[in-house]
Parts: sequence; C-alpha cells; structure tokens
Amino acid sequence: MKNTELAPYAVGTHNSRGRKVQEGAPNGRSEFQRDRDRIIHSTAFRRLEYKTQVFVNHEGDLFRTRLTHSIEVAQIGRSIARRLSLNEDLVEAIALAHDVGHTPFGHAGQDELNTCMQGHGGFEHNLQSLRVVDLLEERYAAFDGLNLSFETREGILKHCALNKAAQLGEIGARFINNQRPSLEAQVTNLADEIAYNNHDVDDGLRSGLITLEQLSGVRLFATHLQAVNSAYPNLEGRRVIHETVRSMINTLITDLIGQTEKNIQAAAVCTLGDVRAAPALASFSSELYTQQRELKVFLHTHLYRHYRVMRMSNKARRIIRELFLVFMSDSRLLPPQFQRQAEVDQSRAVADYVAGMTDRYAIKEYRRLFAVEEE
Ligand code: MG
Repeated sequence: MKNTELAPYAVGTHNSRGRKVQEGAPNGRSEFQRDRDRIIHSTAFRRLEYKTQVFVNHEGDLFRTRLTHSIEVAQIGRSIARRLSLNEDLVEAIALAHDVGHTPFGHAGQDELNTCMQGHGGFEHNLQSLRVVDLLEERYAAFDGLNLSFETREGILKHCALNKAAQLGEIGARFINNQRPSLEAQVTNLADEIAYNNHDVDDGLRSGLITLEQLSGVRLFATHLQAVNSAYPNLEGRRVIHETVRSMINTLITDLIGQTEKNIQAAAVCTLGDVRAAPALASFSSELYTQQRELKVFLHTHLYRHYRVMRMSNKARRIIRELFLVFMSDSRLLPPQFQRQAEVDQSRAVADYVAGMTDRYAIKEYRRLFAVEEE
C-alpha cells in the first residue's frame, strides 16, 4: 500500500526546503525517493555491510551489521509512517542514511576516534553522516556529496552540540532555536531504537552472551515471552525467541503510533511549522517508555559490557588509536586523495579516512602498517 494522502503536517514536495544545488524535477519518482536512491548507490551505504554495531564484523555471521540494521529501521519506520499518513519515502531515506557516518567497530570505534580528535574539533557520528552525504561522497560532476533534500539531511542530524550547530547554518538552526525536526525524522529516530533493542536481544541470545533466564527478569520481554508460551505451549528453541521479539516489536510500534496520534491531537498540530514549534510529538506511552528503558539498561549491563564484548571493544579502540596516531605522525602514509586533504587539515583528513573504513579494512590496514611479516 502506498501513501495516497499525506497528513497536512507531513513533509511533501510543496513544503520541502529543497536541495542546496537546484536540480530539475525527478522523473517518475518523488524527491525523497530520489534521495533514497542516491543513498543506496553511495559508497558509504555499501560499506555498512561490513560495519558493526556491538560486535566486530569478523566475529561471525551471527550478528546484525549496520546494513541490515538500517534496512530494519527503514521497515519499522515505514510501517509507522504509513499508519500516521507521514511521508514514507522520506522516512526510508533517513533510515538508510542514518548510520553512514559510523566508524568501524561500533560505539567503541566512535568513542576512540572522538578521544583522538580532542583538540581538533572532536568526532561525532551524526555530524559525520551529514559530512558524508554533504561532502565526502564523490559521485556527481556538479557538486560534492549527494545534494540531498533539506528534510533528509535534517533527519540524519539527530543530535548536535550547540557550538557545532552554530557552524552548520540552516541545518543546525533548530538546535539553537529549540525547534524539532519533521515528524518523519522523529519517527525514524524511534524506529532506530525499536530496531536495535530488539535485534540486540536476538543477537545476544543467539550468540549465547545473554540467556532467556536473564531476560525473563525484564518486564517487556517477560510479558511477551509468557504470552508466547501460553499461546504455543509446545513451542521450543528459536521460534520462541522469534515469536517473542516479533511480538515486542509489534507492541512498541502500535504503542508509538497510538501515543503519537494523541500527542498530535493534543498539540493541535496542523502544519509542518506547527510540528517544528511543538515539543517532540513522536513518543511511546509512559508505560512502554519505562519498559523499553528497562530493556536498554539490561542490554547495557549484560550485553554491551559482557567481557567478550569488552575484549573486542578494547582491541577495536587500540586499532583506531594506532591508525590515527600513525597517520598523524606522517601524512605520507595516507592514500593520495587523503594526502591532498591533509595539506589543508591533517586531523580531519585522518578522521575521514579512518571513519570510512569497514571493520575488516581497519584490521587489514593495521596489519599492513604494523605487522613486520606483511608487505
Ligand atoms: Mg542506528
């Protein structure tokens, strides 16, 4: 089913702020479908296949990569957008692009690169995602980056410190003026949360890092597990987990839609301008918000800080740090296109190069630079 009629406060071609560089109207597709297509064909998007969220990519096929994560975010986001009569194509574009600025090795990689970049303007993956689509992709004759619509770029820039926002012009203005992004951006942000909490449960169980018994102490999971067990008393193994996770995702989506509809009504929102001026409109009910938080806390304690994950993160940090330091010590070690950039701003060139690496490329590059037995 396709959106035939958008809500008056949804983003459409009529109220879009358009692209930085003017282009002719797209043929046979909407402006936001065009954004989505540009993202899918980008180098940074393709590399998401070999980047991880929590686990290192080479640790096995058990875990989500950022590519499948982004596709899951798009699926969840589109379901929500359709039911709220929002612009599905915009949600899809934001979802597929939201992680393109991530470093190799998930959060550990990002934290380490940010530490390395202290004194050089820092490193933040949201800003880097915007930098990728605005500047770093080299695909067009007429402009750098992908020249995406304002609303797609706004959705990609989820958070931004005020000092950074001030340097970003129009796209950073909402952080300074205390305004919200479109509902499409808000929905995608929460679809991201639904996706990673649930797939981390799934990946965590499959890898054996967390157990069903531990998860039975988490209300959100326990409620749905009980429901599955009483509906299918003879069900065992993987199917119990998949039924439970599916049911959690479904409940979160339904709750989010219901609560967001209430918020929209209560705030008497009629236009996109009203959406920007109102407090955040996309939200879970307070009950589900609390339950979702409990699940997050559980995952932090039992999965993200599991000693096996900590070992991977530690290794990842060392690789990022050593790569950063060696390229800072001598920019002639960089590939030619980054050497040219390094003449202008060495630390940013190094950060761009390191951030663009996949997990396996970073490991390879580390070996090439530091292992004596390799060429
Ligand atoms: Mg994400």
